Amino acid sequence: MPTTVKAYAATAPDRPLEPTTIERRDVGPRDVRIEIKFAGICHSDIHTARGEWGGVPYPLVVGHEIAGVVAEVGAEVTRFAVGDRVGVGCMVNSCGECEQCAKGLQQYCLKGNTQTYAGTDRDGTVTQGGYSQQVVVTEDFVLRIPDGLDLDVAAPLLCAGITTYSPLRHWGAGPGTKVAVVGMGGLGHMAVKIAHALGAEVTVLSQSLKKQEDGLRLGADHYFATSDPDTFTELAGRFDLIVNTVSAELDLNAYLSLLAVDGTMVNVGAPPQPLPIQVFSLIPARRSFAGSSIGSIAETQEMLDFCAEHGLGAEIEVIAADQVNEAWERVLASDVRYRFVIDTATLA
Ligand code: NAP
Ligand code: ZN
Repeated sequence: MPTTVKAYAATAPDRPLEPTTIERRDVGPRDVRIEIKFAGICHSDIHTARGEWGGVPYPLVVGHEIAGVVAEVGAEVTRFAVGDRVGVGCMVNSCGECEQCAKGLQQYCLKGNTQTYAGTDRDGTVTQGGYSQQVVVTEDFVLRIPDGLDLDVAAPLLCAGITTYSPLRHWGAGPGTKVAVVGMGGLGHMAVKIAHALGAEVTVLSQSLKKQEDGLRLGADHYFATSDPDTFTELAGRFDLIVNTVSAELDLNAYLSLLAVDGTMVNVGAPPQPLPIQVFSLIPARRSFAGSSIGSIAETQEMLDFCAEHGLGAEIEVIAADQVNEAWERVLASDVRYRFVIDTATLA
């Protein structure tokens, strides 16, 4: 018998989220049932629920920054036991057989990984995410949250943390490298913390100087306002790596001009509009423009362990479930410091 749990769901692109109930499947032999304690609010939840990225299987429960405690395990589960502190991020399955899965890069599964919400689960049902009391996930896609991290500040690491850790590592952020982070919201503030902990020289490029003090406290060495045209003259040719976390349209060419020779700008921000690039922003300095999607399961565990070792949690504002619509409006207004996290006890 499936278990009925409370949740908050989107029912249409232009309607507020509403309280509802959803069914969670019985625990299969390799499944873990997680009692969700905290669920982070990612801007992707909003893009998805509002239909900005395409069709939505309403009603839909979003949320892919899940932290909780194991409540039940299937008979063949070996890695988890009841009471363990665990997390789930943006994917809950992948084909397990393709070239990318064989390399352990489930996020780039050639058949498409199964997203934590709005995906098609192996039983054909639509996956429902973390703004709910429980989730049932195959153990291969469950992460261990190290003891040093509280569950509320750990939840955002499951998406914001790994989505910034992965490109920072892939493109070699570390001592001697100059890294810029564009946008200091949920992803951006974790990028600042992680790049600093990796030893890079970190610059924040934010719309204004409103959050400068926070940026410097979180580990940035420099902080500039992109509303000031002098920023682009002063920083021309400066950076080895730019991580763009902005959720909206941006003049990419202006930012590409800030890359040094052989520098790379990585977009993790995922606005729905096409972003035009002038090739002469790249050619004269052999610059690269790239994208990056979350991170693998192994890399997500590595990131959680790294964050615990360096004492890096997210900066959060904990909210009750019935404040979720208000929180979404604040995310859209870039008024988030720096991640909203739903206390799922308030769903009861
Ligand atoms: P967020 O908390 O809303 O942060 C985005 C930040 O971008 C804002 O805080 C703001 O920073 C800046 N910004 C917003 N609107 C802007 C505008 N019109 N012009 C310039 N800057 C603007 O969002 P998030 O949760 O970090 O997510 C950011 C993006 O990453 C979203 O598009 C999300 O879907 C995407 N994402 C991608 C992946 C992936 O795997 N690639 C994973 C997760 C999320 P300032 O106030 O500092 O300017
Ligand atoms: Zn996300």
